[in-house]
Amino acid sequence: MEKLGPLYFCLECKKIVKNANSLLFVEEQSAKGFCKESCIESFYSPIVKYFDSFEKEKREELGLSTESLDHVLDEVDVINKSLYGPDEVWALRNSFGESIYCQIRKHNSFYTIVVCLSYHFRPSFIINTVVTKSKKMLASYQRGDKQETNLSTVNPHLYGYLKTKNLTSSTLSFLEKKKNSMLGILPHIKCNNDFSIDNYSVYEVNIKETLEAPDEVYKLSDSDGDIIYSYIKAFFNGEKKGNYFYYVLCVDTAPEDNKGMETVHPFMSFPSNSKDVYKTFKRGELIVGTFRN
Ligand SMILES: [Zn+2]
Repeated sequence: MEKLGPLYFCLECKKIVKNANSLLFVEEQSAKGFCKESCIESFYSPIVKYFDSFEKEKREELGLSTESLDHVLDEVDVINKSLYGPDEVWALRNSFGESIYCQIRKHNSFYTIVVCLSYHFRPSFIINTVVTKSKKMLASYQRGDKQETNLSTVNPHLYGYLKTKNLTSSTLSFLEKKKNSMLGILPHIKCNNDFSIDNYSVYEVNIKETLEAPDEVYKLSDSDGDIIYSYIKAFFNGEKKGNYFYYVLCVDTAPEDNKGMETVHPFMSFPSNSKDVYKTFKRGELIVGTFRN
């Protein structure tokens, strides 16, 4: 038997884990840690049901029960803007300081409302997504405190990392462009039981470790001829998804005559357990790591 020490366990299933790093967090400044995604889902499922009923009742009240626009959520661009580029963010904060956020984004002919928890200024757990053309429906979610929308649309998952750099706006929009094209490609190479894009921010705790102690780093050119560095590291995540790789993709933003590691910036990061994703980013010149089959 080991000596007694500080104990860390999953709030949902109470499984004891070896340290705080083995827990996933979806709320800021909170001790609510979970051992795996399915525990996060079961813990918050009553809250999800509550907001589902709220939407249903509001729709009945406003005569909007037949409004059905959920197909727009199949568009990567709509999802991306709704999650990471909201026009307004409202916080429903209770007296313990716990907040649930409503992120509102206006699209061409409709609004999206993402009800979510937030970690590091970004949605970490999606409670409900409402699509509507009705301003009255919208108003029912514009409650609580209106937040300053300081969320970065550049790269939600790397916001904290990039905030420390003084990047020019042209570099930022270049990184944004790179991220968007990757978000367009990724759904085609992911496997069916791969991590959902909605949950990517939960895994961003891996960014630092992946950049600082990668298992492998590859240097390759993408289809635009830009130099991409793919940082890859293996992680373990509870029973459900087993081992997976965490990827941090970086691009060299300097002009041809002025290249160096200081000009390499991350633009996208995500977890994946797909073999095809691994094959896609395990290409080019191996910079760090050992060759293996
Ligand atoms: Zn658990």
